[in-house]
Amino acid sequence: MKKYAIVIVILILGFLTGFNLYRISKIDNNNKEIISEKIEDECTALGELDEYEIENIIQTNNKEKKTSPNCTLTLKVYHIPCNHLIEKKRMLEDTEVNITEDELRKRFSSWEIQEFTPTNIVLYKEINEFCNQHYMLKNENGYITIYKLNENANEEFYKKTQIPTEYLSQEDLEKINNGLTVYTDKELNKTLEDFE
Ligand SMILES: [Zn+2]
Repeated sequence: MKKYAIVIVILILGFLTGFNLYRISKIDNNNKEIISEKIEDECTALGELDEYEIENIIQTNNKEKKTSPNCTLTLKVYHIPCNHLIEKKRMLEDTEVNITEDELRKRFSSWEIQEFTPTNIVLYKEINEFCNQHYMLKNENGYITIYKLNENANEEFYKKTQIPTEYLSQEDLEKINNGLTVYTDKELNKTLEDFE
């Protein structure tokens, strides 16, 4: 009887062990599946979030961004006949404050928007017109005198300056004596400052 009892106990233990091992491996497999499903879910969720965020950022950049009262507007005009780029800067007018890029585009329909931030806007266009900022500096009665050159390079008296030519370097004096051509108001101001 004892022998039978031992055999039965061993059989029962063996069966239980086997069953448990099977159960554990099944749980493991199930867990793996659950974990992989979870990872997939998270990836999808992250992917969707990223897309949403990116869209949000693009929207904020392009559509929701509005001009602020301290925004500088730069108007760049390229004059095709003389190849000069004339830049004008100004602050926004009241009616141009708190508008989106789309609204700005409607108001400046002939311009290309090169930059649009709440504090800085740059607009550009090309036109088939002479820039009308061509000058010639001359030496008249010991002072630098400014002439304006028209489209056909004809001179017209523009302004007499208080800058004496006697203190200029030999090189600069020669330039002025021969008539120094300067293009754009910006360059004119810079050149006069250098001679002062
Ligand atoms: Zn020009």
